[in-house]
Amino acid sequence: AAKAAGKGRYQFYHAHLSDRLVLRINREQALRQAIERDEFILHYQPRVDTATGRLCSMEALVRWQHPERGMVPPVEFIDVAEDTGLILELGGIVIEKACAQIARWKAEGLPVVPVSINVSALQFNDGHVTDILADAMRRHEVDPELVGVELTESCMAGEHDTVAGEMEGLRRLGVKLLVDDFGTGYSSLSQLQRLNVDILKVDRAFTVTLGKDAEGTALFKAIVSMADALDICIVAEGVETAEQLQALQSLECDEVQGHFVSRPVPAAEMAALMLKRFLFPSAMAQHRGILP
Ligand code: C2E
Ligand code: MG
Ligand code: MG
Ligand code: MG
Repeated sequence: AAKAAGKGRYQFYHAHLSDRLVLRINREQALRQAIERDEFILHYQPRVDTATGRLCSMEALVRWQHPERGMVPPVEFIDVAEDTGLILELGGIVIEKACAQIARWKAEGLPVVPVSINVSALQFNDGHVTDILADAMRRHEVDPELVGVELTESCMAGEHDTVAGEMEGLRRLGVKLLVDDFGTGYSSLSQLQRLNVDILKVDRAFTVTLGKDAEGTALFKAIVSMADALDICIVAEGVETAEQLQALQSLECDEVQGHFVSRPVPAAEMAALMLKRFLFPSAMAQHRGILP
């Protein structure tokens, strides 16, 4: 009886596994098809000066415009893209679309601000991202000052010389280097300075602790003062409340990004924000006189 039960369990487990396999293959197939059908678009989220609310930069965030499911967020497909290697192709598409958008905004006469592009660890370690970005910037005649590359700490976990070489290649293009989700991995600030990182984006997990507990605020303060000493610009991610913004203003964190300022928006809405220039209600009123 025990043997029969064991066998039953085995079959159940086995069926479960193959379900997962089928699901994975379906997802990979769907992603491949979406790439062929050009169903990916970019939304843009502003990054503003903490003190004034002035628009400093923006982040390009990919979305899958699914014919039936609507707007699919990256959490639902980035993992599959990474597991299947399709992230290389998708990452190339994102670079292409971001550069094309910068060129379009410039042609429309908008006051263009820098756009940062997320690059996954797999894409970074592939060793071609610098050439792909250089090629897209050249074709769209994009000024490197208008481009940033967001790398996670996992990008920097590889062999030091390889990582440093790739980062140096990007730096030589003239683009800004950002570290994304800082504090969730194992990189140290001194390591980031050696790698010539320009901007540090502190993970949302740290922002949520602001004002809630003294320890969280103290930790953030320590990160700000170290980044300041190393001459690295610091950005708080995921700012959702006025209290968090106020805390960051008193800590003199350089820039903020988050729903409190703006959610990621389609390119057309971003153009409107670019014209507005100051994205805090109070600062906007203050500067109304100089706005077009
Ligand atoms: P990330 O690069 O850290 O991007 C920030 C994420 O936080 C975005 O989610 C953004 O919408 C969200 N966010 C911004 N402000 C707030 C806030 O105030 N509260 C909360 N709760 N969330 C906020 P999104 O667009 O869903 O992207 C999630 C992640 O997917 C990104 O995290 C990034 O790791 C990845 N991703 C997005 N686009 C790309 C891409 O083009 N390439 C690659 N490789 N990864 C991407
Ligand atoms: Mg990012
Ligand atoms: Mg981030
Ligand atoms: Mg984050």
